Amino acid sequence: MTPRPNSLEARDIAAHLHPYTNQRKAEAEGALMIERGEGIYVFDTNGKRYIEGMAGLWSVAVGFNEPRLVEAAAKQMSKLPYYHTFTQKGHEPATLLAEKLLEMAPVKMSKVHFTNSGSEANDTAMKMIWYRANALGQPEKKKIIARIKGYHGVTIASASLTGLPNNHRSFDLPLPMVKHTLCPHYKAFAEAGETEAQFVARLAKELEDLILAEGPETVAAFIGEPVMGAGGVIIPPEGYWAAIQAVLKKYDILLIADEVICGFGRTGNMFGSTTYGMEPDILVCSKQLTSSYLPMSAILVNDRVYQPLADESQKIGTFGHGFTAAGHPVAAAVALENLKIIEERDLVGNVRALAPKFAARLAKLAQHELAFDARSVGLIGCLELKPQEGAVGARGAKLVGLLQEQGLISRAIGDTLALCPPLVITEAQIDELFDAFEAALAQM
Ligand code: PMP
Repeated sequence: MTPRPNSLEARDIAAHLHPYTNQRKAEAEGALMIERGEGIYVFDTNGKRYIEGMAGLWSVAVGFNEPRLVEAAAKQMSKLPYYHTFTQKGHEPATLLAEKLLEMAPVKMSKVHFTNSGSEANDTAMKMIWYRANALGQPEKKKIIARIKGYHGVTIASASLTGLPNNHRSFDLPLPMVKHTLCPHYKAFAEAGETEAQFVARLAKELEDLILAEGPETVAAFIGEPVMGAGGVIIPPEGYWAAIQAVLKKYDILLIADEVICGFGRTGNMFGSTTYGMEPDILVCSKQLTSSYLPMSAILVNDRVYQPLADESQKIGTFGHGFTAAGHPVAAAVALENLKIIEERDLVGNVRALAPKFAARLAKLAQHELAFDARSVGLIGCLELKPQEGAVGARGAKLVGLLQEQGLISRAIGDTLALCPPLVITEAQIDELFDAFEAALAQM
């Protein structure tokens, strides 16, 4: 539909260059303008209600109108609306949040460094790794291995870590020091007759071959999401993380867990690393840290990373890195209150309680003739459709539109429809979500 002249849609598209958007299509159609939120729902400017089946961008754990977060922000805003954390300065919200994250961490961590987005955090993690390599007198140990279909952000470094064509094509990326290894999507990438265990062994072997081909003395770190999100909700097969970590240990390669989506309950544990037995040296989190009410991300590092970095900062005079808004007091206050709510309301328990129903209703969708696969862990899942001959992504795009008409916001990743609802969702609302999904699927 062409936006009405002078409508908010028309004014928006006249002024606003949207991220992740086909700009010409948006010029013709306008954007869906969201006005307010309530629990798992958002409402557009015409008053139409949608179930936010993606929790925004995999991120609004506590729902879209949590008054305690508003109060926490207002209180901090009136006390100290801004201060920075550079040059040996600090403030209470950042200190308390760093302590809290160290206490919650799935493995022993030493320090927390704050940034403002997942991309900045991963970019920073990469810089920390280079800085550390120089500190240790291993200036050649700088390559990072990431995975095809992994998603780590869009800055020059983090987009390089991302393993998706749309983030590389026409941007002259990835950077040459980033290498990509195979994606653990068993159903899509297993060879004929290959068992899950054989598939896992092949992926671990391919990783080892890559390390040997590059030279183990040149490979510094491996980065991965416990569950791949934006690459298509790809859930690793049994034994995958154990096999990968065994290879990394053998060649003294650090592990970065990108918990930007999985962190704070999504997979049924506080961290995806716990769900999959990962022992990261660096853990990156964001999104559900503040329920995305304010931008914030955090990088947790262990002593293997922190100690050489601290030595180097003394040697050259400073750790010359940091963002103006790093550890922002208002964002930190909101994060603290958000984490308190996640704990007090036992939202991780809610994820565990509802996961079987979520999985069962996805499995029912997978009986549709166009379905290729359905999968989930905790409250993150997807329905993957068989692609249409010669038009990969067409069915996904069509279905996401039908879902929107039915009042359900999902995200089409090619022909995969992702679901990642707010962690406060109830059992009845899971039914409501899937009833809408079934109605849209019936129209396909
Ligand atoms: N890592 C992961 C796993 C993500 O899902 C995302 C965002 N979808 C990012 C990093 C990048 O975060 P941001 O968009 O805040 O830069």
